[in-house]
Amino acid sequence: MKITINGRTCQAREGTTVLAAARDNGIYIPSLCFHPKTGPAARCRACAVDIEGMRGGLQTACSTPVKEGMVIRTDSETVKAAQTMVVDLLLANGRHDCLACEKSGVCELQDAAYHLGIQRPELTFKETPPQVADESSAFIRIDREKCIRCGRCVSACNHNVVNEVLNFGSRGDDTRIIFDADLPMGESTCVQCGDCVQMCPVGALVEKKAVGKGRRWETRQVRTTCPYCGVGCQLDLHVKGDRIVRVTGVENAEPNQGHLCVKGRFGYDFIYAKDRLTTPLIREEGGFREASWDEALDLVARKFKEAILEHGPDSVAGVSCARSTNEASYNMQKLFRAVLGTNNIDHCARTCHAPTVAGLATSFGSGAMTNSFKELPKAKLIFCIGTNMTEAHPVASYYVKQAVRNGARLIVADPRRHALAQEAHLFAQIKVGSDVAFLNGLMQVLVTEGLVDQDYIDAHCENYPALRDKVLEYPPERASAISGVPAAMIREIARTLAAHKPGAVCYTLGITEHTCGTQNVMSIANLQMMLGNLGVEGGGVNPLRGQNNVQGACDMGALPGDFPGYQKVVNPAARAKFEQAWGVPALPATPGLMIPDMVTGLKSGKVKVLVVFGENLANSEPNIHHVEECLAAADFLVCHDIFPNETTRFAHVVLPGAAWGEDEGTYTNSERRVSRVRKIKDAPGDAKPDWWLYKELAKRMGSDWVSGSAQEIWDDEVSALAPALGGIKYARLDGDGLQWPCPTPGHPGTTFLHKEGAFTRGKGLFQAFDWAPPAEVADPEYPFVLSTGRRLYHYHTRTQTGRSGMNQLLPREVADLSAADAERLGLKDGELVRVTSRRGEVQVPCRITPEVPAGLVWMAFHFREGNANWLTNDAGDTTTKTAEFKACAVNVRKVVQEVG
Ligand code: SF4
Repeated sequence: MKITINGRTCQAREGTTVLAAARDNGIYIPSLCFHPKTGPAARCRACAVDIEGMRGGLQTACSTPVKEGMVIRTDSETVKAAQTMVVDLLLANGRHDCLACEKSGVCELQDAAYHLGIQRPELTFKETPPQVADESSAFIRIDREKCIRCGRCVSACNHNVVNEVLNFGSRGDDTRIIFDADLPMGESTCVQCGDCVQMCPVGALVEKKAVGKGRRWETRQVRTTCPYCGVGCQLDLHVKGDRIVRVTGVENAEPNQGHLCVKGRFGYDFIYAKDRLTTPLIREEGGFREASWDEALDLVARKFKEAILEHGPDSVAGVSCARSTNEASYNMQKLFRAVLGTNNIDHCARTCHAPTVAGLATSFGSGAMTNSFKELPKAKLIFCIGTNMTEAHPVASYYVKQAVRNGARLIVADPRRHALAQEAHLFAQIKVGSDVAFLNGLMQVLVTEGLVDQDYIDAHCENYPALRDKVLEYPPERASAISGVPAAMIREIARTLAAHKPGAVCYTLGITEHTCGTQNVMSIANLQMMLGNLGVEGGGVNPLRGQNNVQGACDMGALPGDFPGYQKVVNPAARAKFEQAWGVPALPATPGLMIPDMVTGLKSGKVKVLVVFGENLANSEPNIHHVEECLAAADFLVCHDIFPNETTRFAHVVLPGAAWGEDEGTYTNSERRVSRVRKIKDAPGDAKPDWWLYKELAKRMGSDWVSGSAQEIWDDEVSALAPALGGIKYARLDGDGLQWPCPTPGHPGTTFLHKEGAFTRGKGLFQAFDWAPPAEVADPEYPFVLSTGRRLYHYHTRTQTGRSGMNQLLPREVADLSAADAERLGLKDGELVRVTSRRGEVQVPCRITPEVPAGLVWMAFHFREGNANWLTNDAGDTTTKTAEFKACAVNVRKVVQEVG
């Protein structure tokens, strides 16, 4: 539509506001309380404008819809006077200290004052005593003297990230931003995601780490991808010299729309840690000594040659890194396959989502998340099972909570009543390891009550009768007896699922880390096919991947049975293709060892050389005593990492890698989105890019590879060899990246898979399963069930978060117990308990919490001391050998501390 602003004819988009139309046409109107993400508030009134013919005087541009033919003045004397009065009042009613303020240069109040020509406020108020800024939280400072009460932070906290901590307190002149019931920020329930900081238009809320580290005009912005979880949030690094001064979420970017969690926003210091590995190390009597790259790589190459000569190619094995880039994983698997001649290459998907890859590939033909994060806020129903999303994938949880606020139904099934369960319309507190029975029970109701999508099943799926007959053996009463979920609730959940479509299922490791993990995954696939919830926006089966690039490491073929792009090593045509591409006469045809077999192979002598890239197996694998015995028995162990860790203690050679921020490359997030990561500084000392190291090893083994940068590896090899990635080139990745499948140069990428029933494998495959209990269940000797997972403030074995200030927020491991068990054991919150299993024991303080039911102990594996993996069971999923981290039997006793 056409409008006139200040006498100039302008185009305006239908449905926008006067403020947006002016901005679209390059006309500045001061505005402070408005932000596109928090919406119009019309609170500050700095955006007053004159609109011809509108009654009631000046209008707020942020809240006035634009109309055809509107005549607007933003520059009249009346308008200027009104805007000046507002800005003048705000400047006078606070201490803005522009000279020293962190926001100087990007402050929206400063911009407004400059635009209006305000040198200093004309108004003066009675002097008030200075207020001390609230510095009580680890990462955020609030200086209320700079607060203009625009409410953007309150809106962001309540509506965007839906953490519901910030609010306005008091009234009139005393109105102030408060946390919970006016607690100091650090004592409130604030999780320090920092969305409030990003939304604050002035210097009231700032990153403590950034204070005094650099003015805004001194920093450059570098877009990259978060180095933590599989959501793959897009970050702007604000860099001065080689130092990250602050991190902000990239606005209007997929997948995170500017939102971040505490780790993404504040967890970056680890790259500057003093204990970074900076030079190759070789073990000698009495410890490690520094070595040159030539010496270290020659030694590794010699050990490869000796092992292969004496014991064959399958005596060497490698664990790739899901934290590093796609290009590094590609080069590592290429080294093992094309140069060393073995498929003994795996990575940490074995520890987490290997059942997803195997299960969804069987059911659908593609083992990845079917849909996209951006679809979640629009879903009619979200069913979260076995996912502690608010802690493990916080930005995804913002979308789920937004969906609930938008009217979606939320069903949560989990052994713990965690934060997301508080949001649920229906919460099923299932017993650990009962998922197959529970899901069969839901499907029994769908079948018996005629709620299945029969048309969809008939048109797009196969093997339905076998599944139908199996689930009929699980009426709700039987499913209830196994899962502990009341039969009436099982019926209600099934009916709710059928009544609100499309519905999305989200899950994580609560589903996969079981001896029946792959069956759990395929049961979810069964449920969604039965409901016809696939191939539609807002539906799908959505496994949220753990590490930043675990999807990419799978895609790159860091798996024992798959070349890049899931082309099978057992397929002669696939082998022929890669033999030609890599210029080798024959590639190994048998799938290689999985991580658990590599580890035990060190002790049995089957594996002579193991390369561990970016993994801390001694902390992250189940049954630490067993893992350490195996690592200690290694003939030759190579660790390629950025820090010394519990695993490098066993290494014979340690090779220093470049960290996140020290090389170019790509990560692939859970929703199959390939995004760029960028270099902001050199790696310290003599540390080298990860992809380089495998190229150098190949050279020492007689193979001279051509690709000499991450871009060349991707553009010339990965993209050329993996059909689903064929259209993805670096030149197309500058913005929000691309989601595979993206087979051709002009292809836009794929937001959701299996559209119109076109499953990757042809038809969706129903598979019928009986429930079986976990490998180890509670008994009189070990009467508790231990389940494990991650906590918000730490990541994996803390190699990164432990060096980024997160220890302030979570300084040690604890064991979560119910109040009923604590009372029975005579425990008070924080008292020390000894948790024992058949494999080990730990002593940790207990945390008494309503989240866990009686009989359950819940722990994480972030800290060496108190690590749950001293206790966990290494019994593996029958298909993928992923360990049953989620269920083992333990005992808990109070530690009686002796006095004197
Ligand atoms: Fe990083 Fe995940 Fe947090 Fe996003 S949700 S900022 S990807 S850790």
